[in-house]
Amino acid sequence: MIIIMNSEVTDEQIGGVVNKLKDFGLDSNVSRGVERTVIGAIGDETKVDKELMQSLPGVENVIRVMKPYKIVARSYHKQDTVIDINGIKLGGKEIQVIAGPCSVETQDQMDAAAQGVVDAGCRMMRGGAFKPRTSPYSFQGAGVEGLEMFHNAASKHKLPVVTELMDVRSLDAFVEHEVDVIQIGTRNMQNFDLLKEVGRIHKPVILKRGMSATISEWLMAAEYIAAGGNHNIIFCERGVRSFETYYRNVLDVTAIPVLKKETHLPVIVDPSHAGGKAWMVPALSRAAVAAGADGLLVEMHPTPCEAWCDADQALTPEELKSLMGELKGIAQVIGRDI
Ligand code: PEP
Ligand code: MN
Repeated sequence: MIIIMNSEVTDEQIGGVVNKLKDFGLDSNVSRGVERTVIGAIGDETKVDKELMQSLPGVENVIRVMKPYKIVARSYHKQDTVIDINGIKLGGKEIQVIAGPCSVETQDQMDAAAQGVVDAGCRMMRGGAFKPRTSPYSFQGAGVEGLEMFHNAASKHKLPVVTELMDVRSLDAFVEHEVDVIQIGTRNMQNFDLLKEVGRIHKPVILKRGMSATISEWLMAAEYIAAGGNHNIIFCERGVRSFETYYRNVLDVTAIPVLKKETHLPVIVDPSHAGGKAWMVPALSRAAVAAGADGLLVEMHPTPCEAWCDADQALTPEELKSLMGELKGIAQVIGRDI
């Protein structure tokens, strides 16, 4: 941490900063220039309250030099982390496409969707049983019964189950119904109590980016999970809010290489909630894979025009299959498999 003092700083104020750093367990290096005095803090700055330092008399600016996240940082773990989901590897050479409907509706729908996932060559299945809907009058998800339908459909094909957790109180049901990967949705990215709870179990967690979260906030949210002991975290870029209304969100492709640089954890992309229209999904998927995503989370429904949720953005099983073919070509060019 570097503390820049203002031009009228007094010796007493410099002493105040040095003493405060001592309270936090850090040493100081005072550097007196012609125009400015700069104090370098020596030691672990993560416990130092930046705002408090900023408020001290004579302080003009405080700059952190260390990253506020540790466990999720690439500097903590140099190699890419590969997460094992029932024998399926996410974060390695093989790109994983997780596909399935926005929400679990009926057993027939889930059975048909599971067949579509397998036929397309995907190895994991998605589907929400607890849905975060904008309106309280919209379908809220099939709940625990939905978890059951999902488990029935997926287990026939040994497909790992990926589903969203919105409330800590559902966690027991998730464990009971053998959910393989817990999804934390965009609206809950900074639900810190929820993050702490999923940090205590050892199931892989897909952490979606908050719809207006910065990269740093997203990494810190992941650090909450990691700090609890669960290091099986997968970042999922799903588009951020902007002024544009043509599409649902702006897919932040830049976030992919940035995250790959900042963290050792896998990064996947949800092109469906980014574009919000099925016809945009192939182009966004191709961009994501080309930019280095370790996987995709794609909405597919056996009959999209009958979907109870996000009908407009669901691919048909045939469209998913043809997308997988296109992605194969891109994966090959960048030295990956799909
Ligand atoms: C979803 O994946 O079903 C979902 C609700 O996504 P998001 O949290 O990104 O809106
Ligand atoms: Mn959806």
